[in-house]
Amino acid sequence: MLELLKTHFGFDGFLPLQEEIIGSVMDGKDAFVLMPTGGGKSLCYQLPALALDGVTLVISPLISLMKDQVDALRTNGINAAFINSSLDSREVAETSERAFRGETKILYVAPERAVLSGFQQFLKTLKVSLIAIDEAHCVSEWGHEFRPAYRELQGLREVCPGAPVIALTATATRRIREDVLAQLGLRSPRTFVSSFDRPNLTYVVEPKSNSFSRLVELVKKRQGESAIVYCLSRRSTEETARSLTERGFRAEPYHGGMGADDRRDVQERFIRDQLPIVVATIAFGMGIDKPDVRLVVHYDMPKSVEGYYQETGRAGRDGLPSECVLFYTPGDRVKHEHFIDQLGDSGEAARSRERLVRMLEFCELPTCRRKFLLEYLGEDWPREACGGCDVCLAPKETYDATEAAQMFLSAVVRTGQRFGVRHVVRVLMGSKVKQVEAWKHHELPLFGVGKSRSAEEFQELVPQLVSKGLLDKSEDRYGTLSVSERGWTFLRGRASLTLTRTVRQSALVSGNGARIQARPSTAYDTGLYEELAALRMRFAEERRVPAYVIFANRSLQDMARKAPRTPEEFLRISGVGEAKLREFGDEFIYAISRYVEANGLPRVDDPVKAPTPIRPSSGPGDSVRATGKAVSEGRSVEDVATLRGLKPATIFGHLERLVNEGVKVQFEHLMPERARRLTIEYAFEASAQLLLKPVMETLGDGYTYEELRVVRLELFRKRRNANQTESSPRPLP
Ligand code: ADP
Ligand code: ZN
Repeated sequence: MLELLKTHFGFDGFLPLQEEIIGSVMDGKDAFVLMPTGGGKSLCYQLPALALDGVTLVISPLISLMKDQVDALRTNGINAAFINSSLDSREVAETSERAFRGETKILYVAPERAVLSGFQQFLKTLKVSLIAIDEAHCVSEWGHEFRPAYRELQGLREVCPGAPVIALTATATRRIREDVLAQLGLRSPRTFVSSFDRPNLTYVVEPKSNSFSRLVELVKKRQGESAIVYCLSRRSTEETARSLTERGFRAEPYHGGMGADDRRDVQERFIRDQLPIVVATIAFGMGIDKPDVRLVVHYDMPKSVEGYYQETGRAGRDGLPSECVLFYTPGDRVKHEHFIDQLGDSGEAARSRERLVRMLEFCELPTCRRKFLLEYLGEDWPREACGGCDVCLAPKETYDATEAAQMFLSAVVRTGQRFGVRHVVRVLMGSKVKQVEAWKHHELPLFGVGKSRSAEEFQELVPQLVSKGLLDKSEDRYGTLSVSERGWTFLRGRASLTLTRTVRQSALVSGNGARIQARPSTAYDTGLYEELAALRMRFAEERRVPAYVIFANRSLQDMARKAPRTPEEFLRISGVGEAKLREFGDEFIYAISRYVEANGLPRVDDPVKAPTPIRPSSGPGDSVRATGKAVSEGRSVEDVATLRGLKPATIFGHLERLVNEGVKVQFEHLMPERARRLTIEYAFEASAQLLLKPVMETLGDGYTYEELRVVRLELFRKRRNANQTESSPRPLP
């Protein structure tokens, strides 16, 4: 298994639980897998699919994602395919035929197709060795992604009697999990639950003041990377996107009121890194599987903690540090209550209200946000502090809390020990809201005595008083406070009390409160990274796939750290398997070598990971020269590709390399006719780096990437010659 893992996926080891799950699947047992986004679920069926005889059927609800998933597998040299409504009947027939011949290892279909009797007849002709049900929560009516066809998937059992079923989901709520297990009819499944902690995400709640300039700051810091900004209303998505655009950022709105085509277009460009910022309602993201979203901003408070967890969960699927920032003002509560009131007096309204209360609690939390999130999701989180949320990261100071604690405990006693934190704080702060007046607590002598302090300070006090045993808090959702024996002793005695509190900076002065430094990742050479990212972009454009299908950011970082300059070294990069070595190795190694020659080795402090020393460049390798020779003999790129068992794009890569190194190649016979050639050249003139994409956009549909690349070869050659003359030593006078 480890060998398959390296050969096909380029990984050296398993993520938590993957090995156990894969072992269980290989034993032919049903499995139910609960893992957060980014936990590595796909591998749990993709790796067994390679090891097992026959085909693995994957039920996936999102047709729009299937192509990218299949492209990613194919780039890893795996025979994967999908059948869905985006294919015409001829393509369906061809795909089915290949599966029938046993050539397909992994076949993706939507649930609606999987339950059709015609499709099931076809399945009977295949050897299905495993059935994977992805996004299994779609079977539950409790979630908002319910798909009735999931209910009928049990029928596949009879169609493929020998195949175990593995169901996977990132659903974090207990009720949906139980429902999924009940509905899918798995046979004594083993259940695998991993922690839903997302250690690479930083959670930050900030006061919502000056929120737009704060947003600008955040996206500026992440310039060139992907960000999602969630707003509550369609109108505010549009306004915010417009304001960002006016400030020079590329941002577009996304909401349910837009046409299906427009929405698809925004999604598509976001995934392909052509649009960095999407300002959206929560409708955005369900069908999105983008691994490198670095920032999720909640411009308004979400309506539930589940929703918040799910939306922030779209950040950092690739495991790299990412930031989640929520702008909070208590006023947002009113907006939500207004929505809830429209639900009337139903049970749904009551549940929504309860969810809202918990959300507010999260926003006003004086303690670790991660701990709250995970405990909300039903997980035990033993630590008090995570080091990755604004509360844990804020600078703290110790102070004499004697007076504040006395005030607070007295207020708990005077209000009858029957309220939670919120009420007691209101009384101390002298807030005349309905609930306070209803209990006549505004008539208490201590009403308003805490005004010289802040509500946050009192809130922050509570968990510390609880942990010091001065205060008791009920376990239920009311969190009723009462004063303990020890608390009474403290109130009567004269002992002093020292506690810690957050050093609060004015939001205006620092603009951003406690600045979170994402946990440092291991160092890599950013210049080299940029160069490699540009190369990746070129491959992605040519193949019309998202960049991550070529290489994950993590792989590029690894390259920019280790600077591999031989195929063996390149294969040691995480995420590089044999197919990717074959397909992209030459060009990446070449780019790395060139960079190292010009800039020296990346500076890496870790001696174990230190790159190998520089060897003198030996120029293009044999494979590249063989391409040059075959083309120079007058063959077409297609022919040379077939001849050499490579993709046309790779052939072009070789030619570009030869030209850039000054090796003679004949490619005149590949040139388009004169008028076209001049048009293309003219279009390239505007582009300093000779990029294909902008030129393609200028020229429009009548041109092909192949033509552009041939013309560009000539331009590369001219540039090189010009540089050579410039830098060649002048003859002495
Ligand atoms: P999920 O479906 O659970 O959200 P994915 O299957 O998309 O997660 O995997 C998340 C990321 O982790 C992907 O970038 C994937 O390539 C990577 N990954 C998966 N398994 C491993 C592994 N064993 N080693 C390193 N990276 C892995
Ligand atoms: Zn924390």
